[in-house]
Amino acid sequence: MSDQLLGSEPQRRSILQTIGGVGGLALFSSAASGTTADSDDCAPGASRRPDYRLPELPYAYDALEPHIDARIMELHHGKHHQSYVDSANAAVEELEEMRSNGDFETIRATKRDLSFNLSGHVNHTVFWASMSPNGGGTPDGALATAIENQFGSFEAFRAEFTATATAVEGGGWAMLFYEPLADALVIGQVEDQNELAHQGATPLLPLDVWEHAYYLQYENDREAYVDAWWNVVDWTAVGQRYEILTELRCGLNQETGDTGSTTAGSDTTTDTDTDTDTTAKDADHSN
Ligand code: MN
Repeated sequence: MSDQLLGSEPQRRSILQTIGGVGGLALFSSAASGTTADSDDCAPGASRRPDYRLPELPYAYDALEPHIDARIMELHHGKHHQSYVDSANAAVEELEEMRSNGDFETIRATKRDLSFNLSGHVNHTVFWASMSPNGGGTPDGALATAIENQFGSFEAFRAEFTATATAVEGGGWAMLFYEPLADALVIGQVEDQNELAHQGATPLLPLDVWEHAYYLQYENDREAYVDAWWNVVDWTAVGQRYEILTELRCGLNQETGDTGSTTAGSDTTTDTDTDTDTTAKDADHSN
């Protein structure tokens, strides 16, 4: 991982806690624990009982106006996202109870609750971190190149993403994922919080198209909401997330001997330095 990308150690740790991922798994330590990781958190076996917390927004509720109004943000973050967090924690507690009393009769419902609500928590956490009052425009750097290579152009990518978001049936999301097996970008049409997800792929850029995300301002005009939303996309954050995930993939391939799409011993695999190894360990044990 380049120092230029992640900056100082505290900054680097903060970025990793916010957007970390290994092998395509989305891990959000700060959102999960509400605490700052210290070195003990990164030791093997340090994972512990989940205690999910609502992350603070990195901007004020009215910061995304006129594109998303303050009341929507206040309810969406403070009520809806909080509800996913609370319900995920409730499911964790129910599972603990089942383990202690040996009665798993209601396990199907609880497992469904955990999947739905934890997915909702992860989706919203990345959603907030993908927007900025200084957003909009187009990506640059490695992400821009990847989008051009895989979709033909940024315009073609945007058209597919917009069509996906507009076409979601009922509540759901359009999401740009990083898919590590093929080192590819995938636009997913996620229903609810967790249906039609891509296992192992990490959300890079999610767009919430549940009615609670836009109805107060745009009523039933989801298309207008999606058009406006492009003005608040934080391409700097999304680009950093992409670069970290692609570098983690190279680091993991080197550790496991799986060279993926690269050639063993080539410059591509050998320029992964110890910095990347630290990164992988940080994220690997952050939940
Ligand atoms: Mn939502």
